[in-house]
Amino acid sequence: MAQAPEKDSARNASDSAGSGDLRFGPVQVLVGDRGGRYPDGNSVVVRGEDATAIIDPAVGLWQRRGALPDVDLILNSHCHEDHVAGNPLFPDAECHLHEADAVGLTGLDAMMAIYGFGSGVDASFRKVLVEQFHYEAREDVETFDEGDVYELGGVDIEVLHTPGHTRGHSCFLVRWLDGARERRLLYLGDIELTRFGPYYGDAWSDLADFEHSLDRVRAIEADWYATFHHIGVLEGRDAFLARLDVFEAMISDRERRLLEYLAEPRSMDDIVAHRFVYRPGDAIAWADTTEARSAEQHIARWLESGKVVATDDGRWVRS
Ligand SMILES: [Zn+2]
Repeated sequence: MAQAPEKDSARNASDSAGSGDLRFGPVQVLVGDRGGRYPDGNSVVVRGEDATAIIDPAVGLWQRRGALPDVDLILNSHCHEDHVAGNPLFPDAECHLHEADAVGLTGLDAMMAIYGFGSGVDASFRKVLVEQFHYEAREDVETFDEGDVYELGGVDIEVLHTPGHTRGHSCFLVRWLDGARERRLLYLGDIELTRFGPYYGDAWSDLADFEHSLDRVRAIEADWYATFHHIGVLEGRDAFLARLDVFEAMISDRERRLLEYLAEPRSMDDIVAHRFVYRPGDAIAWADTTEARSAEQHIARWLESGKVVATDDGRWVRS
């Protein structure tokens, strides 16, 4: 799912070595346009002795037609437009998603339910899905679940179900032997480690699940940590944890700002107009839906804890 473009491009310029693909043993990262900034992304090819897999074929691969790897297997981390855009480039490959998200590839209606946009945005985004992201329904989608392992021959890919961004969002732990030493690359999908912070603004997003998934990936030891978008590949756990801290802190930053705003009674329309996820000037067609879905999850917690109360006229205020 999309986020606003980040302005601190200097910080990101060195993240994924600018341009050109990256290699780590049997893993090749096909670095997308501008380091994998939305709408593009970084696709990961894993070549085993018996089979080759591609994780999250990005829209930019359509520019590489004719120079794409032979692929036996597509693994999608989740069913969002930018992560499945290159799937039709591999019509003969098996296509696997988590069982919770797989329905999104059965047709446009099912895909749109994942976002839960209002009617105006829904109509225009359907067009975007087809015309810009090459969306095609597939009948041959297969599913994976937590703990499944794909053995490609000398390299394995383990599925970690990490919901929150979507219900089925999954990370992939790629493992191989380098001499006697096991090497590991953790592919994080849209646990994207940017300063935008976690995206939990769709109908199928869940803040509490996202937080749990952040705890889970935090504990994983790997040599490299790869994201779909422009953070690219981080080397070593220290670099990963530093980014993860900044990423996760955006949740409490949004909470702090929203709670301050609720010093006076506010309606959802007020909150949506004020914006706590996107910046006021960001031209994001679905921003209103995202703001409302994100805020309602924070407010639900505060109603539960008593930190916020509802007013008689349907607004909320800090207690
Ligand atoms: Zn996404």
